[in-house]
Amino acid sequence: ITPDEVADLRAAFPYFSDPPSAGGRPVAYLDAAATSQRPARVLDAERAFLEHANAAVHRGTSRAVGSATELFEGARATVAGFVGADRPEQIVFAENATDALNIIALGIGEANAGLGVTGSERFALGAGDEILVTEAEHHANLIPWQRLAKKTGAAFRYIPVNEYGTWSIDDARAAINARTRIFAFSHVSNVTGFLSPAAELASLAREVGAITVLDACQSVPHLPVRFGELGVDFAAFSGHKMLGPNGVGVLYGREELLAALPPARTGGSAITKVTMEEAEFLPPPMRFEAGTQPVSQIVALGEAVAFNRDVGVARAAAREHELVERLVQGILETPGLRLLGPQGAEQRVALAAVEVAGLHAHDVGQFLDEQGVLVRVGHHCAQPLHRALGMASSTRASVHVTTTEDEVDRFLDGLRGAQRYFGTVAPSATPGAGSA
Ligand code: PMP
Repeated sequence: ITPDEVADLRAAFPYFSDPPSAGGRPVAYLDAAATSQRPARVLDAERAFLEHANAAVHRGTSRAVGSATELFEGARATVAGFVGADRPEQIVFAENATDALNIIALGIGEANAGLGVTGSERFALGAGDEILVTEAEHHANLIPWQRLAKKTGAAFRYIPVNEYGTWSIDDARAAINARTRIFAFSHVSNVTGFLSPAAELASLAREVGAITVLDACQSVPHLPVRFGELGVDFAAFSGHKMLGPNGVGVLYGREELLAALPPARTGGSAITKVTMEEAEFLPPPMRFEAGTQPVSQIVALGEAVAFNRDVGVARAAAREHELVERLVQGILETPGLRLLGPQGAEQRVALAAVEVAGLHAHDVGQFLDEQGVLVRVGHHCAQPLHRALGMASSTRASVHVTTTEDEVDRFLDGLRGAQRYFGTVAPSATPGAGSA
C-alpha cells in the first residue's frame, strides 16, 4: 500500500478528512486498538438501513420484515466468510467481545447448573478439572473464567508471562494436561501486541480434549484470520475495533459445540416452544440472540467487513507491519523507554506499549495529548499483566492501515519531548546520539 493509497484510504473516513485539532494540529489518532474510526461507507450503510429499511427482523411476515431480515442475515454470512466459518450459523451476534466471551462462560455455567441442552455434558466441569488462561489476558477474557471456576469448583490456572509480558508454546505445553477442560487465550495481546501461535495451541488443547476459546479482538481487525483453519472451538471479537459500529460483537463457535451450549440469557425469538413450565430453544445462532438485536449496527458491520475485504486484509497487514517496525525501532533507539512485548516487530501486531522511565503513564499521556497525539494510557484492562511486569500502567500507540509515518514519528517525538519536559533525560539525549 503506497503513500498515495493511504491518502485515498484516509479520504474515505470523515474523521481523517476533517480530524479534530489539538494545539492547532490535526489529531494523530493512534488508538485504533481501543476503537477504530469508521469509513463513510459504514456510517452510510447504518443510516441508509435506518432511513429506508428498518423493520423488526425475524418477527412477522411482512415484506419489509423479510427484506430487513435478509440484510441482517446477509451481514452474518459476510462475517462468517470473512473469518473462515463454514456456515453463517456459526456466527452469533453479541453486544461486543466481552459479551461474546460471557455468553460462552455463562453458558458453560448453565450447563453445569443442570440447565443444559442436548449434548451439554460436553461442558461438564468440577473438582479435578482445570480452566487455563494466560497472565496476559484482557479482563474480558479473564474474569468470566475466574467466575466459572468458582461456580463449578474447577481449578483456575494460568500460564505466567516472562519479563517482556509474553509466553511461549513450551509454556503452554507445560501447563496443558489431561485435566485441562478449557484453554482461553488472546490471539494478539492488546498490551504487548504479541501474536500467539493459535493453531499449534489449539492442537495441543485438542489432544487432551480441552475446549479452546480465542480472544480475537486484536487479530481480526489486522490479520487474515480463519477460525476454521486455526482449529479453535470458540472465538470472540468486536465490531468497533474493525471499522464497524459500537454495540455489536461476534461469537464464533464450532457447530457441534454451539449446538451443545445452553443460552445464559433467554427470552423472545430464541425459542421453539414455551409453556408455563419451560422452554425449548432454537438451534444456534438464534438461541443466543434473545430479544431485539442492534440491527442497523449489524448491517453496518457487514459493510465494515466489505471495506476491510476491499482494502485487502493481507495488504493492510503488510502496511501495518512497516508502521510497527518504525514504531518499535524508534522506541528501541530512545534511551529511557522500556518496550513491552517482543523486542522487535516480529510476532507483534499493530501496536506497541512502553514504560517511560521515571514518568507516570498519565503524565506521558497528558503531554502527548497536548501535542495532539491520541494514545491509550493506563492498564488497558490488563492489570495482572502490568503487575507481573512490575508497573501499574503503560503508554500504548496502535496503528491501522490509515496511519501515516508522520503520525508514528509524532508519537516518538512526543515521548522524547515528555522526557525532556519532565527532565528524566539529559536535554542532549536524542536517538542516535550514542547514549542508547
Ligand atoms: N480483548 C481484547 C484483547 C481487547 O483488546 C478488548 C478491547 N480493549 C476486549 C477484549 C474487549 O472488547 P470490548 O470492550 O469491545 O468488549
